[in-house]
Amino acid sequence: MIDWKDRKEFWVAGARIADPVTGRIRTGSVLIRKGLIEEITWQKQVKTDLPVLEAGGLLLAPGFIDIHTHLREPGFEDKETIETGTAAAAAGGYTAIVCMANTDPVIDDPTVVEHVLKRAADSGNCRVYVIAAVTKGLEGVDICEYHHLKEAGAVALSDDGKYITNSQVMRSALEYAGMQGLVIISHCEDPYLTNESQMNESYWSTKLGLKGAHAASEEIAVARDIRLAELTGSMLHIAHVSTAGAVDLIKKAKKRGVVVTAEATPHHLTLDESMLEDYDRNLKVNPPLRGKKDIAALLAALRDGTIDCIATDHAPHTAIDKQVEFDLAPPGMIGLETSFAQLNTELVGKGELELIDLIRLMTSRPADVLGLPGGKMAEGEPADLVLIDPNERWTPERENLRSKSFNSPLLGKELTGRVQGVFLEGKWFSSII
Ligand SMILES: [Zn+2]
Repeated sequence: MIDWKDRKEFWVAGARIADPVTGRIRTGSVLIRKGLIEEITWQKQVKTDLPVLEAGGLLLAPGFIDIHTHLREPGFEDKETIETGTAAAAAGGYTAIVCMANTDPVIDDPTVVEHVLKRAADSGNCRVYVIAAVTKGLEGVDICEYHHLKEAGAVALSDDGKYITNSQVMRSALEYAGMQGLVIISHCEDPYLTNESQMNESYWSTKLGLKGAHAASEEIAVARDIRLAELTGSMLHIAHVSTAGAVDLIKKAKKRGVVVTAEATPHHLTLDESMLEDYDRNLKVNPPLRGKKDIAALLAALRDGTIDCIATDHAPHTAIDKQVEFDLAPPGMIGLETSFAQLNTELVGKGELELIDLIRLMTSRPADVLGLPGGKMAEGEPADLVLIDPNERWTPERENLRSKSFNSPLLGKELTGRVQGVFLEGKWFSSII
């Protein structure tokens, strides 16, 4: 393929152009000039003296936006860095990610927000937005200074990885965050109930001899936070929803006007607890993989809008971190580079979701949840675009992934649909290495 990296003006011609806002996919051509989408035409071919990237058979969509990424830098650069994490994002079709606060030091101070944004500007391969902590050191005791964090560039607040167990702290946090117009993203698991659990509590946890976390551990946490969001009138976003009961609580809350949004991860939407039969540590995640009825409820919630968007919870861990007894392995799996292919294979390919709805759940909807720019296919917008071959079969392997870590249960498994690369402000980044 021609190297499009240094082209400043060119046409992408004959692509199937996905517009998540209108919900249409139509064949056409896009003129990219000076980093912007200058023109969209519904012609297959264009008469022009400018260079033309022939994209017949490929899908052109707004770049994906991930609102739940663990970049690990600063502090855990052996797992991932801002450079490798954003390269993984770009390779997976993302042109913007929002990184979580559980680094070392924790992103609970304006100087750390500024540090991450500076590092991302210097070495990042996509746009990076920062989530700051709700409480100092993620300890759930003292709330941070949200005004200063917002001034430094934080776009949301989260103690992700931990639930804020003290309800008064969460109430105050919501009140102050609301004054700043910041969303609080909550990791909903009651730690007293999930205590030392390894998977979902069910027939399977008994069969496999692993301590389980009951769905109630998530649902109790979701119920409290919804009630506090209702009390304070502040914005709440529920991270990685995984149970049918949590879906039900969010659905009812939305109906009575609570300002709550929610996300689901590719792994909770496509993988279930029975897959832990081989004790693959890469399937150990928080909250845990659940049962088939939960997955069915999550899919219904994606279709009816109860769950607003898809987010990866990309959580890199080194091979050494994971090569220990199951109960000692840290939870989490990577996801940025495989999310589209995994969801296209398992959901679109099996008739669970339309392709345009999947695109919307990965572009305009996450942008709406956090009030971020992007996710639109429109003239005058930055040329942040993803080019996809929805039919290409490929197999993720260590060698063709860019993340520093390889903790994915999908290695060696054939998937359908491959991101070819992204344009970031018109600059090409190829996914294929
Ligand atoms: Zn989490």
